[in-house]
Amino acid sequence: MKPLYDVIIVGGGPAGCATAIALHNLGVNNTLVIEGSDYTAPRIGESIPPNSRELFEKLGIWSAFSAQKHAPCLGSYSSWGSDKLGFNDYLFNPQGNGWHLNRSAFDKFLAMQVEKLGGALLKNTHFANLSQEQHPYPIKVTLRNKAQIRCRFIVDATGRSAKVARQFNAKVRVEDQLVAVSGYFEADDIIAKESYQQMTLLEAVDYGWWYLAHLPNNKVIVTVASDAAVIKQKQLKSTDAWQHAMHLTQHISPIIAQAPPSNLHTWIAQSAIMDPPAAQCWLTVGDSASSFDPISSQGIYKALNNGIEAATAIKAWLDNNAQEINQYRNAIGHSFINYLEQKAFFYNQEQRWPDSEFWQKRQGPP
Ligand SMILES: Cc1cc2nc3c(=O)[nH]c(=O)nc-3n(C[C@H](O)[C@H](O)[C@H](O)COP(=O)(O)OP(=O)(O)OC[C@H]3O[C@@H](n4cnc5c(N)ncnc54)[C@H](O)[C@@H]3O)c2cc1C
Repeated sequence: MKPLYDVIIVGGGPAGCATAIALHNLGVNNTLVIEGSDYTAPRIGESIPPNSRELFEKLGIWSAFSAQKHAPCLGSYSSWGSDKLGFNDYLFNPQGNGWHLNRSAFDKFLAMQVEKLGGALLKNTHFANLSQEQHPYPIKVTLRNKAQIRCRFIVDATGRSAKVARQFNAKVRVEDQLVAVSGYFEADDIIAKESYQQMTLLEAVDYGWWYLAHLPNNKVIVTVASDAAVIKQKQLKSTDAWQHAMHLTQHISPIIAQAPPSNLHTWIAQSAIMDPPAAQCWLTVGDSASSFDPISSQGIYKALNNGIEAATAIKAWLDNNAQEINQYRNAIGHSFINYLEQKAFFYNQEQRWPDSEFWQKRQGPP
């Protein structure tokens, strides 16, 4: 670790690594990524759409990504707005299939691409806080191990926790209280249905929705999403209640049969935007800038795209053109408004439970 960097990126998930790679591609090499984990713990978010390929190409890592051989995702089945299963495949997409990622392996792969370009990336290293002082490298970062380093520009890529932006008194504007609880199964324990293996299965219920997706390593993830209050009232964080509710689903239950999940994980899944998402000398990328309902399957795509766009703005800022930071900030706002409109449109497709609070809350204008 050096004492001075042009850019410090806090968080080595998809958004942070994409920012670092894109900065290196623009010739900004004096950067450091600080990552709190060693990429071994489970991570959430597995499906990425076919157009992710464009972003891998922009980052210059498409062939390396292809060589990783993540499982193809051919589309999705959904019972949404009707008891019957609809089918949305990628067959006619000119960019081909999407992917079901092994998330930990994918994030580790991105970190390795940063290192391959000569970028510094410290694992198991936690950002604690920062202060600003009169100095050519005015941002002083203190790590949890008390070490101190300095930079000219800092990027918050810490996901929904947004630990850096909060230090600049930025506020998270939250649109809903969505929480997701996931159970993991051995694929061998479920009733194998060939047709579901490369597809995501989505099922709306009166209190929220469930999805099922195959993961690498012969695993299947089944997730329920609803408002925090409903999750609490139905006790969906307890294995028994979760399993009971899952067995009442029409389409997911017959695939899972009687096998119990190995463990349950709870995830915050609310839609939110950081206010502001960028200012002079700092910006947010990925979930710390704005977080989307997982039903969109857009979180990783957005994280990579933010990283590419942020790098252009940071490079300009380092070259004394501050205007691009404003443009980046506005772009985050516009894309969030766009997302809210799409989200309302999507939830409006489900009209079977007009008295359900969960659906009512999501069906008005954004
Ligand atoms: C239930 C659920 C299902 C989802 N499904 C999908 C899906 O199918 N497809 C999709 O595209 N998206 C999905 N998402 C969203 C997706 O997971 C996120 O959008 C994506 O991970 C955002 O990437 P990121 O890099 O911004 O943040 P993260 O992936 O959260 O990465 C943040 C990084 O910062 C590090 N960090 C945090 N704090 C510190 C600190 N103090 N010091 C150092 N490092 C720190 C973390 O260790 C982590 O590596 C889903 C989300 C949920 C909740």
